[in-house]
Amino acid sequence: MVNELAVYAANSNNTKGRVHQDDGAAYRNQYQRDRDRIIHSSAFRRLEYKTQVFVNHEGDMFRTRLTHSIEVAQIGRTIARALNVNEDLTEAICLAHDLGHTPFGHAGQDALNACMRDYGGFEHNLQSIRIVDQLEKRYASFPGLNLTFETREGILKHCSRINAQTLGELGARFINNERPGVEAQIANIADEIAYNNHDIDDGLRAGLLEIDDLRSCEIFSSHYDSVIKKWPDLSDSRLRHEIIRRMINFLVSDLITTSEEMINSVRPIDIDEVRKCGVTLIKMSDATDVMHKELKKYLRINLYQHERVQTMANRAKETVGLLFDAYMNNPSLLTNETQHNISRNKDSDDKNAVTRIIADYIAGMTDRFAFSEAERISGAV
Ligand code: MG
Repeated sequence: MVNELAVYAANSNNTKGRVHQDDGAAYRNQYQRDRDRIIHSSAFRRLEYKTQVFVNHEGDMFRTRLTHSIEVAQIGRTIARALNVNEDLTEAICLAHDLGHTPFGHAGQDALNACMRDYGGFEHNLQSIRIVDQLEKRYASFPGLNLTFETREGILKHCSRINAQTLGELGARFINNERPGVEAQIANIADEIAYNNHDIDDGLRAGLLEIDDLRSCEIFSSHYDSVIKKWPDLSDSRLRHEIIRRMINFLVSDLITTSEEMINSVRPIDIDEVRKCGVTLIKMSDATDVMHKELKKYLRINLYQHERVQTMANRAKETVGLLFDAYMNNPSLLTNETQHNISRNKDSDDKNAVTRIIADYIAGMTDRFAFSEAERISGAV
């Protein structure tokens, strides 16, 4: 028996709809169709070879953007189901939330943003929207995946005011300081819960983090204590997994009960009231939020800024910079399709149109393709 959706949930029958006219499907609701379009997209498949923290070729055991996105979706669905909101929409947003990421994770994005400084910059969230709205080529009569407004609203997590002004209704909330629907709020926090926990797992596995050091974080140490009390002689691997699954369960449970309290105090009667109510409804308790932030800070200092991660980040930055300069100076290095795309846009009113095509091309690369392309280009000059 499926629970009835809460009144404040997104409802497939009342979607704000798609940009292009589109017939319905017999067996799937609008958000299930969005999810399926995302899974079938080429950008989604390429997440398999894009860095989360560790570059893909550093080992087969580490998270990639693809497995990260699946973990986010799984956490998001649990929360959505517990709160009686739209699980299909939550899943669609979670699976799509990182589609716009460049190769090499944040280092790649920072490098591409620096390259694009004089051409409108590069934001990975905005790139996710470009992919689903324009860059995927799967339909005869329109560009992109033609997703519903609610899925697109959830994908666009952050946006600068300048870029928001170009996005019409989708960008309006960044100008009016409104929130997205509950499902988008869930996807946002499910992302944080997923990466904080799986980055600990990957960091410990890689030997960049140590269990004893992590005990300086309250949330880690309290779950460490409860596991050790029950099983004092556990192997490192089992200890790690027992702690992490407890932390995820703790964070998700706290989030669900706190969000229920928030929803009960605001009592939104529909998704528009969620957007306009002026507060974030999906949140952890203050005490848990403090612990979660402490963990996040710990990871920033001890994992993301770790020498080994930084060495790879520097190589990534060099690679993206090299590719950008090479394509700008010599567009004949690009694929035929990209060169055609450039000639079609040469006389565009948008003075950055050609540079944006180059940025799209680089952003779409997997880690290994970017490395091999840089090697090919370096060998050619
Ligand atoms: Mg993410």
